[in-house]
Amino acid sequence: MSAYKAFHERSVKDPQGFWAEQAQLIEWQKPFDQVLDYSNPPFAKWFVGGKTNLCHNAVDRHLKDRADQQALIAVSTETDQEKTYTFKELHTEVNRMAAILKANGVVKGDRVLIYMPMIAEACFAMLACVRLGAIHSVVFGGFASHSLASRIDDAKPKMVILADAGARGGKPVPYKPLLDEAITLSAHKPEKVLLIDRKLVEYNKVAGRDLDYATERAKVMDAQVPCEWLDATDPSYILYTSGTTGKPKGVQRDTGGYAVALAASMRHIYGGKPGEAMFTTSDIGWVVGHSYIIYGPLLNGMATIMYEGTPLRPDAGIWWQLVEKYKVSVMFSAPTAARVLKKQDPAFLTKYDLSTLRSVFLAGEPLDEPTATWLHGAINKPIVDNYWQTETGWPMLALQRGIEVMPHKFGSPGVPVYGYNMKLLDDSTGAELGADQKGVVAIEGPLPPGCMQTVWGDDERFVKTYWQTVPGKMVYSTFDWGIKDKDGYFFILGRTDDVINVAGHRLGTREIEESISSHPNVAEVAVVGIEDKLKGQVAIGFAIAKDANNTATLEAEILKTVDSQLGAVARPARVYIVAALPKTRSGKIVRRALQAVAEGRDPGDLSTLDDQSVLAQIKTLFGA
Ligand code: AMP
Repeated sequence: MSAYKAFHERSVKDPQGFWAEQAQLIEWQKPFDQVLDYSNPPFAKWFVGGKTNLCHNAVDRHLKDRADQQALIAVSTETDQEKTYTFKELHTEVNRMAAILKANGVVKGDRVLIYMPMIAEACFAMLACVRLGAIHSVVFGGFASHSLASRIDDAKPKMVILADAGARGGKPVPYKPLLDEAITLSAHKPEKVLLIDRKLVEYNKVAGRDLDYATERAKVMDAQVPCEWLDATDPSYILYTSGTTGKPKGVQRDTGGYAVALAASMRHIYGGKPGEAMFTTSDIGWVVGHSYIIYGPLLNGMATIMYEGTPLRPDAGIWWQLVEKYKVSVMFSAPTAARVLKKQDPAFLTKYDLSTLRSVFLAGEPLDEPTATWLHGAINKPIVDNYWQTETGWPMLALQRGIEVMPHKFGSPGVPVYGYNMKLLDDSTGAELGADQKGVVAIEGPLPPGCMQTVWGDDERFVKTYWQTVPGKMVYSTFDWGIKDKDGYFFILGRTDDVINVAGHRLGTREIEESISSHPNVAEVAVVGIEDKLKGQVAIGFAIAKDANNTATLEAEILKTVDSQLGAVARPARVYIVAALPKTRSGKIVRRALQAVAEGRDPGDLSTLDDQSVLAQIKTLFGA
């Protein structure tokens, strides 16, 4: 049996023994009594009885051996700032941040919402929360007040940590007014707002609620705040993901299982070594940012680069310049970013010394063959696709080079990662499928350590949403279609639900529809995702106006509405104002027909449509 097969087989047949060994990669204040408690499926409790702390393992633990080594490298090509923190300096800053939170009443179990750009203080904030056992909920800085408000109401944070502004393409993007509006909209009102003033924009302060970080920090310069020893099963954070019903789902992660899963993944998948540097070009608002900008590399004693800016400023060589400068050994990005770079002068990729770089990992969306081939040809390093989702927290499918170097197959993220009992199932019967048959990608429980524990505050939704969609079986559904070849390599074919993937960001089309519907002149709307060369997919909308004589500026107004409610990430590429939408006789909008027409494909069987002429009219919009 190959090394990979043996490793994987053991992980699913003897999870207790397998994970007990992996658990040695982190430090425990108190050892666990039981590796896995799966007495109440699908709720898996990992490392029961064990006590540990993520901040201890990411920071304090390294003071002994690498206090003066680089830990956090914060680079902003937006504000032209670059600063390196050693593990010792990171420890000091995290203690100060933790002291500020503590002084303002934040204790174990409290939620803290973090709405920040990619600056060092965001890292301090996340680590300070887990140090105290407070549960952070980072909301992507590109989300607008409506999205932010729904997350505030769900997480009910005691405190919000925020910066005055982010920046994009050299222009500040104010955050403070969005938060203020969100707090006006939300029913729950956070007690305190801690504001990091980057002096990028002017803002108003709310007396009694808003605190200035610099002022508070000055009061606690020598603070030492001990790590709170948490149960392995205590939650570490909540991260919201777009749901299919519009209401965001809070993915709740544990402490011990997550630490073990990430530490193991650094060894077996990403191959980073302590003392080296990792550069993940994502954002802390996404799961990749949580796992592989903040926790993964630091748990592993590696330095991590936090990068604020685009891949093209000051020029398209900036990322490779950072690889050379900080001797990056592991890089992690998204196919969409590679496609952006591909349009630039290839000389930028050979200009810098990339000899320290071992591999580039790409995830978040399907990796197309031309992009992978181009990047590999340009830098001559392995390009490793890996497939996972917010819910799992770390890869489900990948070639695990730390275990065995296996051949790569174009279009496939590889084989099931250890710990995951992956299945391809028929969505109507639940039957397991053989090679080359399309089915739903599912995981047989228990989910391995590090995966979501539940939906925050809603166990029932966790079970219903994820574990009860395949007939006759309680299995976890990824909501992705896939196919498996005879060698066990998986290929991901897209979503089974109404979620679309725009430049690696998962967006619920229903959420965008709800936002568009809130425009007073919109009677009805349908949003679909269509293929896009650069972003993978983009959203487009079809809206019916209430007042059909008043539509000259309607598309622009709708886009503005989406921007202000959900943020620019969710903005459709186009919203077509139409007279009618294609519907079945029972009144359901046939979104797949809209999608096919917009992509210039044959819409297939339309016999269920109530009125055939509606689609014919929509076809004329696309010149068909
Ligand atoms: P998110 O939770 O936002 O990270 O999105 C996860 C979803 O992105 C998955 O369910 C897939 O639909 C898609 N995805 C992530 N990584 C890959 C990949 N390597 N190949 C294909 N699709 C991917």
